[in-house]
Amino acid sequence: MALNLMLMGPPGAGKGTQARRLARGFHVPHIATGDILREAVEANTPLGRAAAAIMDAGQLVGDDIVIGIVRNRLQRPDAATGFVLDGFPRTVPQAEALDAMLDRRNPLVVIDVAVDDEDVIRRLSKRRVCTGCGTIVGAKEGLPPVACPDCNGALVQRRDDRESVVRERLTVYRQRTAPLIDYYRERPTFRSVDGGLTEDEVAAAVADAAHGGSVVRRTA
Ligand code: AMP
Repeated sequence: MALNLMLMGPPGAGKGTQARRLARGFHVPHIATGDILREAVEANTPLGRAAAAIMDAGQLVGDDIVIGIVRNRLQRPDAATGFVLDGFPRTVPQAEALDAMLDRRNPLVVIDVAVDDEDVIRRLSKRRVCTGCGTIVGAKEGLPPVACPDCNGALVQRRDDRESVVRERLTVYRQRTAPLIDYYRERPTFRSVDGGLTEDEVAAAVADAAHGGSVVRRTA
């Protein structure tokens, strides 16, 4: 089985949650450049030190840096039969680099998760991340959740989920990442889905898009 999947969409579209689930279902690694960069910041590596201020400002880390991260990650054996990319590519040069990396692999399935700006701000103001297991916890209404439903771990707000930074991330998304929709639109393996869909509905769209490229058998 092989699935080369990329989820795109504005911050707060639900990509991370969907990506984790799809990766589990297809038995391929979930590769989230934001997670890799946050780990580097946490570990205070040279990469983390270079990226921290950029991330806190809601800006994009340089293309060469993230392309290098993804190139290395895709060469690891667990990515040989596929992957779910979450948060990469975010610019046209990154997308071109990814196409070059995938030269001899199956086609890339691209799912664009569409959400409007006010929805993003509402969702992210309540989004919390578990410090124990990394689960992303949203709140449909009312106050943000206080403990992780999976492991009861403490929940924290991401530094860049504060409203001023979210607005900057949205601007950056519209200017630098949304053009990727035109980059991928004509491919038979591209689908745009509503961010309000359930996880099952998104999984169905992925299977349909993958079928467009005739490359996947879903086993989960
Ligand atoms: P995310 O968790 O995907 O929202 O990413 C958090 C932050 O990491 C972004 O706001 C960027 O600063 C940085 N980042 C993650 N992925 C990329 C990427 N593909 N290109 C540039 N910067 C990125």
